[in-house]
Amino acid sequence: MGIGMGVRRWVVRVVVVVTATSVLAGAGWFALGRAPLLDVPGVSRRLADPAAEAERKVGAAVDVILQRRARAVLTGDQAAFLQDLDPANAALRRRHIQLFRNLRTLGFRAIAYHRAEVWLNDKAASGSSAFRVVMRYQLAGPGHVPTVTELGYTFAPKAGRWLLVDDDDLDADLDEAHRQPWDFGPIQVIRRPGVFVIVSAGDGAFGRKVAADSLVALAEVRKVWLSRLQPTVIVVAMKEREALVRSWQLPGHGIAAFAMPLVDNTVPTDRTTGKVVGGWVVINPKERKDVDTGLLAHEFTHVGAVRLGDGTPLWLVEGLAEYVSYQVVADRSRGWAMGVEKYRDEIRADSLADLKVLPIDGVFHGDFGEDTYGVSWLAVEHLVKAVGIRKVTNFYAEVAKSTEDREQLLRKHTGFTEPQLVAALKASAR
Ligand SMILES: [Zn+2]
Repeated sequence: MGIGMGVRRWVVRVVVVVTATSVLAGAGWFALGRAPLLDVPGVSRRLADPAAEAERKVGAAVDVILQRRARAVLTGDQAAFLQDLDPANAALRRRHIQLFRNLRTLGFRAIAYHRAEVWLNDKAASGSSAFRVVMRYQLAGPGHVPTVTELGYTFAPKAGRWLLVDDDDLDADLDEAHRQPWDFGPIQVIRRPGVFVIVSAGDGAFGRKVAADSLVALAEVRKVWLSRLQPTVIVVAMKEREALVRSWQLPGHGIAAFAMPLVDNTVPTDRTTGKVVGGWVVINPKERKDVDTGLLAHEFTHVGAVRLGDGTPLWLVEGLAEYVSYQVVADRSRGWAMGVEKYRDEIRADSLADLKVLPIDGVFHGDFGEDTYGVSWLAVEHLVKAVGIRKVTNFYAEVAKSTEDREQLLRKHTGFTEPQLVAALKASAR
């Protein structure tokens, strides 16, 4: 819906927190120039049972393949990356040539593939073994941290050796977000200080615009989060529909962009102990033409909060993102600033008179009404004007760690109870 001088209310933007995933088998994390760790001391044990012994042998063969592929990415050796693929599967080979090129385009400081558990695999031929594999990587360049993602690879014995015969048998069983930006067609990367943009190849002009808009947005977001925001933020703005996100639809809403967590684990095969180390922004491919500094500022504000925890009330999560976003939008020109003012007036006229409580988490995207985001924006704006941004972000950081004592923490950091904040908001509209 268009408002004012073209200030639009974008479709709902959501911060998603996926469960930390990750594992460890034999192969170790290695960086270029450092010898790979072939085995973890103390892990190898005698296996008397013939089935377990057979699995151990497959695992050892798979580890050699995975390490060869990781090293090939670092050294640029395409032949080594492809040498363990099933030669009978031409489509798989084509995919992995593209994958290799994409991985080289990204550029890695370090990369490793860790074999995790073997999975029952009814899609593959008998005699084959499907493994969950955890890719742990760190992009080259300043500000990137080690991160894990997972794959499902199927291996089978052919002509006396083990080969990688398929890469999608476990797709339905892995984490929803496991399909990475480099798993599709050719990509292009735009690097700027503090920003790393991934677009589809041939989309470079668009990518450079996203990078430029990101720098404008980040300047404002850094004022809010200071060092809580990671040094470099990745933006994924590709044409492909399914990179990282399977559905761009919430009940009743489209989604313009997601801020998604990046997870790491020093024991990368362990699914339970991963830690959120940062976030990245994924743009809905259908909304690419509408990416602007406002949308990016909104999502980067979520990224700045992603490591804090998930106990923050949604009115504060989305209200702060909207607050920063409209600061950026209003800074564009006098016309945009007037558009923001007009939108503020509309929310005051339409939604504040009947306001009883701030938008509640459980009905935020459903029953609360049209102006959930707008009311949240004005609540945060009111708090910032009353007590300053530092107290608001300190409240955010502390309430993020716990869902308890929200009321008490709001009061401690800002001096307001929720009823007082609602009353003050309503009074400001009169
Ligand atoms: Zn949002």
